[in-house]
Amino acid sequence: MIRPFNRARNVGIDLGTANTLIYIAGKGTVLAEPSVVAIDLTTGKLAAAGEEAHRMLGRTPGNIRTIRPLRDGVIADFDATELMLKSFVEKGNEGRRLMAPRLVVGIPSGVTGVERRALRDAALVGAREVYLIDEPMAAAIGAGLPITEPVGTMIVDIGGGTTEVAVISLCGVVKSESLRVAGDEFDDAIRRYMKKVHSLLIGERTSEEAKVCLASAFPSDEHDALSLEVCGLHMASGLPRTVTISSGEIREALGESLATIVDLIKRTLEGTSPELASDIAERGIMLAGGGSRLKGISDLIAHETGIPAHIAENPLECVVLGCARVLEDYGRLSRVLETQISN
Ligand code: ADP
Ligand code: MG
Repeated sequence: MIRPFNRARNVGIDLGTANTLIYIAGKGTVLAEPSVVAIDLTTGKLAAAGEEAHRMLGRTPGNIRTIRPLRDGVIADFDATELMLKSFVEKGNEGRRLMAPRLVVGIPSGVTGVERRALRDAALVGAREVYLIDEPMAAAIGAGLPITEPVGTMIVDIGGGTTEVAVISLCGVVKSESLRVAGDEFDDAIRRYMKKVHSLLIGERTSEEAKVCLASAFPSDEHDALSLEVCGLHMASGLPRTVTISSGEIREALGESLATIVDLIKRTLEGTSPELASDIAERGIMLAGGGSRLKGISDLIAHETGIPAHIAENPLECVVLGCARVLEDYGRLSRVLETQISN
């Protein structure tokens, strides 16, 4: 039975491996922060969440631990996930508790059945109802793909921990694949490269910065002229040192990870029916997630698959906007929700 409900209580949450976003009906996207918490080990309480905790990564004293609760597309730390969500929802709602909200939570498709049940049963932040939706479906809706129609569309969501590829038609996922290679792995690959080639140890935040400022997945004259100074710890001397790296070097560092993502897309295409494959060839592949902002990635995918690739209008917000759309258009879109629990 579909009960009438108060719009103001509708809340969409993108529980991403790198970033969590919250959308409150009538207010829009009220929060977008890194999925990181800092826990005070002496009290067991939350010391910081989001941006503030992210700044502490790699810089904490012994009594504080920073945790990324959804590290590789699975819930690595359930209690920390709950603490983080509670803190975010309150912050997003101007410090006040939400009264019996109705939640649609987008979760990585690798989250297991047990974890899904636990998430629902946790009666998150005092919710009256909790619905879960797989992130690729939410991303497709948020990117404006015509998922209710009998045409094949393909969404590729490159996040922090995982890349998810899905072919969708008639409100259903026809085929999906997920891979633990995405933004975080790009960062790690840059770190490994710096260590191997330049004997320089660099931190997580530095490698991410190098990726965002300098990386490009596909050669282009304009971008390939760029270079960047990277500061780290020189292995032989044990002292800080600055090294200048080029855009081409970063592409080399990312080569293997990018090839794995391209293979995943090809594999998913190969496994679909000729009708769906020709729909996708005609309409193109839609890219979402923070990783789709990597320069040249749509060119690389188009070049390797022979199918045009488009980047969604708000790649980082697709999932949360999709969650919000499902609540707004509940009558038509509730079919895409996989589970429900009423408290
Ligand atoms: P998730 O859904 O897993 O939380 P997001 O969709 O929020 O992940 O994407 C986060 C990833 O996107 C991070 O690895 C981040 O470094 C990367 N990212 C964000 N902006 C850019 C950019 N301009 N270029 C390359 N990578 C980016
Ligand atoms: Mg995501």
